[in-house]
Amino acid sequence: MNGLLVSTRGLVHIYRSEGHEVAALSGVALDVAVGEMVGLLGPSGAGKSTLLNLLAGVFRASAGKVFIGPLELSAATPRQLDEMRANDVSLMLQGASRNLLPYFTPHENVRFAQGAARRAGKDLPEPGDVLATVGLEANAHRPLSELTPGHLQLAALAVAMAPRPGVLLADEPTSQLDHPARDLVLERMSAVNRELGTTIVLVTHDPDVAAYLPRTITIRDGRVGGEGRSGEEYAVVTPDGFLPLPLHVREHLHPGTLVRFHRSEDEADGQYVLIAEEAGHEGGGDE
Ligand code: ADP
Ligand code: MG
Repeated sequence: MNGLLVSTRGLVHIYRSEGHEVAALSGVALDVAVGEMVGLLGPSGAGKSTLLNLLAGVFRASAGKVFIGPLELSAATPRQLDEMRANDVSLMLQGASRNLLPYFTPHENVRFAQGAARRAGKDLPEPGDVLATVGLEANAHRPLSELTPGHLQLAALAVAMAPRPGVLLADEPTSQLDHPARDLVLERMSAVNRELGTTIVLVTHDPDVAAYLPRTITIRDGRVGGEGRSGEEYAVVTPDGFLPLPLHVREHLHPGTLVRFHRSEDEADGQYVLIAEEAGHEGGGDE
């Protein structure tokens, strides 16, 4: 079992282009345990791809911290970052073909993808074994042009798993697939997670994929907006004590609404009740 912990604190990312700035992430705190498989959800532009690139060490954060196992990326040397990218973290970009060398077979792609980790002295399985892990052994030596979209995505998964990373990050790995292919890819990713203990973070828009995952994290406006556990949605208190309101609650609580928390006498120990008052509304504050 080779999974690594993934954690962020106060993660901020600002894109600067031609005089204007976009804050894509504005304070993300995230904890993904060793060997967990979680989905990242959220509307387009929420910051999911930015977050994956920061976790992968592709971008450097504008502020805040990213931990991959014991390594904190903002404090890592260029050499440590290179080693981490070669050995520990794989990023599957959206669209299978972006992860594959087109004129190589799946077997050749996996062998090529193992190069950096192998040169660094890492003990790796044979490409054929990596392809067997994702269920692609029958297509190992076929040209990519003969593979179905689902099998191409499995080849991309094999390439990502080629260096036996502790963390697999996947940006919308099932978005361009029909349902049977989607389910196949998801099943093989789960198998990797189960059998190798790889920590997996995958971005998805698909409610069926989200429902399949034990835990989801919703990114909203560059922050963690909530979490799902087995299909139930929760708001999450951040490490610095903020509580983002669920969207359906926000509709009813206008900006400026005053909110208090009361410990309820009736409820089981530790239960809090949230009491909201309209801003400017006098009285009603005498309990
Ligand atoms: P998602 O993957 O959730 O759709 P992204 O991480 O791609 O979101 O983007 C988050 C925000 O950052 C969006 O407002 C997007 O327009 C902006 N953004 C993404 N990439 C760049 C870039 N290279 N330059 C400027 N802005 C960017
Ligand atoms: Mg994206």
